[in-house]
Amino acid sequence: MKKPVKPARENISPSDLTFGLSTCKRCLWVKYWYKVTSPMVMPLVGTLSRLQEEYFQGADMPTIDPGLRAGKVTKWSEFVKSAPIVIDGAQTRWRILGKYDLLSSNEDGTVGLIDCKVSESERDSGAFYSPQLEAYAYALEKPLTGKAVEVASMGLLVWKPTHTMGNNPDNAGFGIYQKYISVPRNQAEFISVISQFIDVLEGEIPEAGPTCETCNFLTARNALDLL
Ligand code: SF4
Repeated sequence: MKKPVKPARENISPSDLTFGLSTCKRCLWVKYWYKVTSPMVMPLVGTLSRLQEEYFQGADMPTIDPGLRAGKVTKWSEFVKSAPIVIDGAQTRWRILGKYDLLSSNEDGTVGLIDCKVSESERDSGAFYSPQLEAYAYALEKPLTGKAVEVASMGLLVWKPTHTMGNNPDNAGFGIYQKYISVPRNQAEFISVISQFIDVLEGEIPEAGPTCETCNFLTARNALDLL
């Protein structure tokens, strides 16, 4: 496939560092060079995240986890954009652009980054999401514009649905088990992951993965020659 002169988008989405790199990289490459993405159906994800974020607006950080620095959640759902990413001293054309869930202003002038999840997946480990959270931290500490802030803590705030509540059909709900998972800072790993990511984007289009159901469906469907 012929590559355009310039990628259609040069802003890397933090979530692509988890889900994008852990699967086939072909769709990722197409997304950045042609701005074409496969449609995704994620019912309720937006509503659940909004409810969870609203619940923690203004919260005292130590009430979320006693190990967190004194401060309050003062910002939520804001976009952050980094300066061009530097790898081994060389500036690339790529930047980070993404919207974090919650950010605290700590009393010592630092900030705390929190990613909200409503999930029962065993995959919700700090290690899996570390590069994604580090990407937000990179943008906060090396912003394209505005003042840089030091990110003192990063973590996942997980709500796992466990039981139903109430017997009024007009006002029923579900209860959750809440867990805060601290994610240690690991800038070295982030640089390694983002550098692999950029290598994929700057290379030729990768081969498709043999186990992807979408690609297998498209291949089978195209072979029918229906149009
Ligand atoms: S296997 Fe095909 S559909 Fe699946 S991610 Fe790769 S290119 Fe995309």
